[in-house]
Amino acid sequence: MIIDFHTHLDFYKREELQKQLTEFSGIIIAASVDEKSFLENCAIAEWTKKSARNCHIIPTFGIHPNAADENAALLDDPTTATRLAAYLDHSPLIGEIGMDFCWSKCSKENQEKVFRWFLEYCNRKGKACVIHTKDAEQEICNILTDYPKARPIIHWYDGPENIFREFIRRGYPQTFGVETIRSPHLQNLLRLTPPELLLAETDNPDSEPWLGGTRSDVALIERVYEEIAGLLGMSRPVLEKIIEENFKRIISN
Ligand SMILES: [Zn+2]
Repeated sequence: MIIDFHTHLDFYKREELQKQLTEFSGIIIAASVDEKSFLENCAIAEWTKKSARNCHIIPTFGIHPNAADENAALLDDPTTATRLAAYLDHSPLIGEIGMDFCWSKCSKENQEKVFRWFLEYCNRKGKACVIHTKDAEQEICNILTDYPKARPIIHWYDGPENIFREFIRRGYPQTFGVETIRSPHLQNLLRLTPPELLLAETDNPDSEPWLGGTRSDVALIERVYEEIAGLLGMSRPVLEKIIEENFKRIISN
């Protein structure tokens, strides 16, 4: 069983995606960047249930740090906040959330406000949440201590090693994706990750082309598995087993 722990299925052209999903076997966690994105991912998951039997999609609700400015004020409006809060309970895990002080044009204040809104819920429910940390690693490391019952999963971490070691010490699972094979720094972090905290992702469909590659198909996760298994000197079936166990532990809590 192969599991892509972080993708953006709503970014695909629908017809092209549907064709790929019918040919794919495995589980895909479909991260959302805002409300519209979540509803689209839910529709894709519904379609898949009926039409692509070997593929299982788990849509997750989150607001991306890139969308913090347009969403921060919505959380102050009781009607909108209630509507958004209802999505949280429908989402077996939360994501994509976090902060980004490198690429996001949104204010730090709004990013932190939106991030804390989700963390407050995850802390109350003991829920897992997939976190984007680009150039905000230290701030996020500090903020997470306010929410000890939230269960963070760190997505595509590429920051300083000392903060990574702290995340590992706290037991946060880590996703490794398409950049791992290209980056000695990420390969070092991969080797620092205990097997029980290891997950794989593509961050499809934009990441591989952004890194200079050509692929953005759903089956790209299979190549990521091959690459991680190769880097760790293990067979792909062994890696699949490890990641499947980790996934089950995350989803069952
Ligand atoms: Zn993402």
